[in-house]
Amino acid sequence: MGAGVAGCGILGMLGGVSGRDMDGVLGGRLEDLRGANLLRSLRRVDSWRGAEVVVAGRALLNFASNDYLGLAGDEAIREAAARGAMEEGAGSGASRLITGSLKAHHELEEALAAFKGTAAALCFSSGHAAALGALPALVGKEDVVILDKLAHACLVDAARLSGVRLRVFRHNDLEDLESKLRWADGLAPEGAGRPNVLVVTESVFSMDGDQAPLAELVALKERFGAWLMVDEAHATGLFGERGAGLIHHLGLASRVEVQMGTLGKALGTAGGFIAGSRALVDFLINRARSFVFSTAPPPGVAVAALAAVAKAQSAEGRALREALWSRVGRLRAGLAGLGRGIPAGAGISAIHPLILGEERAALRGAAALLEAGLLAPAIRFPTVARGSARIRLTLTAAHREEHVDLLLDGIGRVLAEAGDSACAAGGD
Ligand SMILES: *Cc1c(COP(=O)(O)O)cnc(C)c1O
Repeated sequence: MGAGVAGCGILGMLGGVSGRDMDGVLGGRLEDLRGANLLRSLRRVDSWRGAEVVVAGRALLNFASNDYLGLAGDEAIREAAARGAMEEGAGSGASRLITGSLKAHHELEEALAAFKGTAAALCFSSGHAAALGALPALVGKEDVVILDKLAHACLVDAARLSGVRLRVFRHNDLEDLESKLRWADGLAPEGAGRPNVLVVTESVFSMDGDQAPLAELVALKERFGAWLMVDEAHATGLFGERGAGLIHHLGLASRVEVQMGTLGKALGTAGGFIAGSRALVDFLINRARSFVFSTAPPPGVAVAALAAVAKAQSAEGRALREALWSRVGRLRAGLAGLGRGIPAGAGISAIHPLILGEERAALRGAAALLEAGLLAPAIRFPTVARGSARIRLTLTAAHREEHVDLLLDGIGRVLAEAGDSACAAGGD
């Protein structure tokens, strides 16, 4: 590749190649996105605290944060971040396998394993990096991954990167999953050469807020001798007596081979992790490329995350969860009153989609909410399927009852303005 680049440079200098101007090409693509109502841009947040964000000098109520327990702003956790930085440095100085494996990382991993009920855990610089590192380490092109249709982009990318034979099952559809497991089972006889089969899903889905039928999934994969990887990005910190997540809450910790999570959502800090057996973690230390070839996360972040894991499990953590579920109950009752109730089978979560259908309808709805001081951005293709553009509403323990009521007022107006057509586009 180096030689090719140098060759181009020389030819370019000789005037032998007429390249296309990159900014011109990209400008055209950006215009296409704009035309399709799919252009995204960054919104600068000048400050945020609790349920409030300040954007362009204007205070808005934030219904778009994944900081479900409000721990990102928690004073003790912010102090832990500062202490970690002061005592151990602003950075880690190297990858974990060189000299970056600091005390803070080991303490955090021990705490995560205890939290999740596993023998071991391994941290990555983000949940995204955990997926991209772990999945391709575990399975390769002779193997099979069977992925829920609504699984997060990082899981899709990780599966593609691994080069496996990839199958997608209909969202939360156990029959469809079973037919794919049966297909995989028929690929090779027992014994050597038999592919490993990994089922991949989320416990709480990031854009729909519904739960996977984990107990049934576990029973099914066990019948076929398959492995299961579950992303608990939106469940860690939230479910169970200690907030360990849905897997632990359902008593399935020893039966899910790969538990994945992020420290960046309910745990209020940053980073990702994989929890599971000692063999799994030892193997990932050797083979997960995003772990091996990346500088260790800053010690301040690890110390803060350790404090967050402790807080999530404390009486204070339980009180924060109770506050969150109480706001969620209020929002759900209000949404039901607006004809937008959450199906009972979906299970509880902090995420509530207001599906409006067309990209334009979702953009218009979000703009109307913004007008009213309510921040809840439109979620469009490719994050969600075409025709299911939505406003994704999240609640946190930092919201007060009157915040929920203001949101419901805003949603009522959006739905009235969107009219019947948008209301009819409730499903996909
Ligand atoms: C946010 C998210 C991730 C990525 O985690 P980060 O720590 O933000 O990189 C992975 N999976 C799901 C389902 C997520 O929502």
